[in-house]
Amino acid sequence: MFQNNIMSTRPFIIANWKMNLLPDEASQAMNSLVACQKRYSKGLERYSLIVCPSHESISRCNNVLGKKSSPIALGGQDCFWHDKGAFTGEISPISLERLGCTYCILGHSERREILGETDAMIQKKVAHLCAATSLTPIVCVGESRKERNSGRVRSVLKRQLRSALSHVPRRRHVVVAYEPIWAIGARHPITPKECAVALAYIHEQCQGLGIPRMYRAVVYGGSVTHDTVLSFLTKGVSDGVLVGGASSKSAEFHSLLRTIAKIV
Ligand code: PEP
Repeated sequence: MFQNNIMSTRPFIIANWKMNLLPDEASQAMNSLVACQKRYSKGLERYSLIVCPSHESISRCNNVLGKKSSPIALGGQDCFWHDKGAFTGEISPISLERLGCTYCILGHSERREILGETDAMIQKKVAHLCAATSLTPIVCVGESRKERNSGRVRSVLKRQLRSALSHVPRRRHVVVAYEPIWAIGARHPITPKECAVALAYIHEQCQGLGIPRMYRAVVYGGSVTHDTVLSFLTKGVSDGVLVGGASSKSAEFHSLLRTIAKIV
């Protein structure tokens, strides 16, 4: 999916459908997304569009996209740190790859918060995914409201990044998604100015961890809608956006895509 230089690729539009759609609904949503992509293909070819359906819907979504190379890539929403074995309910990165994925979200705050995923678990997931597959990890980091209010944004990001990225092999492409927990599913996202500050810090940390600019992209996620998307895609703010809730509502997501397709 990437060229040699991640920065020569287009801004990312990553749709995280979470557990919002049943398999029938996901395949319907993918069908209408394909039609939308065709309709605005001229504008949308400037972006890398990635959809992360829930695991049970990946195969059906892949069938909708067809065998030929599609302008829409697929990603998993999580994966485990082994290929096979007695790990009930888990999915391996190799399975995701065989199902047609080229990306995988790891360390999403909903998994950290609701399912108790720790930095150590996320580190193992990122390391195994990189070792066993050619999937590109989309590593989510971000602070809670409490951590923000107590001035700990940098220390939280530093801890999460150091842990998650410490076993990424050299010359591996990585997408880091800055998703402040307080801005997810909220009425208002972070301001682009605050976002730019956090993203600059993430770049600095990644550089220090030996992931050069050409191998990394840093995107923003948290309550992005068709109204706000352009402010986060402005040059210098981010390398793209991760869209959660708004991406699984077809009308809203198509409106977001129409908005970004039309900018010159
Ligand atoms: C997410 O869950 O990754 C996300 C960005 O959600 P939302 O867009 O709904 O805030």
